[in-house]
Amino acid sequence: MIKKIKIDEQPKDDFFRILTHELKSPLTPIQTYLPLLLSEKLGNLNKEQKDALNTISKNIDRLSHLILDVLTLSRLESKEIKFNFENISINKVIENTIKNLKWEAKEKNIEINTFFSNLPLIEGDSERLGQVFHNLIENAIKFTPEKRRIDISSEKKGYSFIISVKDKGIGISSRNLNKIFDKFYQVDTGLDRKYRGSGLGLTICQGIVKAHGGEIKVKSELKKGTTFKIILPYKTLGKPTEAFGEIIGGGH
Ligand code: ADP
Repeated sequence: MIKKIKIDEQPKDDFFRILTHELKSPLTPIQTYLPLLLSEKLGNLNKEQKDALNTISKNIDRLSHLILDVLTLSRLESKEIKFNFENISINKVIENTIKNLKWEAKEKNIEINTFFSNLPLIEGDSERLGQVFHNLIENAIKFTPEKRRIDISSEKKGYSFIISVKDKGIGISSRNLNKIFDKFYQVDTGLDRKYRGSGLGLTICQGIVKAHGGEIKVKSELKKGTTFKIILPYKTLGKPTEAFGEIIGGGH
């Protein structure tokens, strides 16, 4: 029986790995040729042709995002993902993420305010944590009506860092709140749904935060807004948490 389960699980992992790889490889030449075509280096285009290629390009980007998300998730689940742990500034990672999302916020006239505590460096993978904040802030923008605000804060409490992303958007009902970290889960799945996405973002966020020894929490009220909190253990490379706690004055 045990043997059977093991045999059954292995092909599933292999299937995902092979599938994502096979889906990714034909995208590479498409993503190489599309900009060449669009820049008219391979010949002039009329307006209709340009519009058609722009639509293709946008959808190829979505497809490649989705494939990358599935790949990241399967690597997180199989623990094959590689993390590049360094001593990093969380505030800087968040600032860079906000810069990357500046235009999305501007388009909706949404103000992003930061309330950063002066934090010491912490052990983490800046790219992967950047991915977490990107997803949370992008969601906050996506699910918040125009002209509202998003507040992002960071603080140190005892041996933990707490980062919160608070929006005044559409909110999530308590019925749906415990499902949002599930794979492919989206609150709005109707054919006429307004919001795009794969429902993988939060699952990936949770996996990355857990790999840092942390946790992610959410509070939400329908039509009032949502707050995500990331709690990361305060530790630095090469120093055990307690020792570092003493250096900076203990965990109170
Ligand atoms: P995606 O955004 O790609 O659909 P996520 O895993 O990031 O996938 O989010 C899952 C679902 O949780 C979203 O589809 C949405 O219904 C809900 N959600 C996430 N963040 C928010 C938010 N800030 N406000 C309201 N709903 C949210």
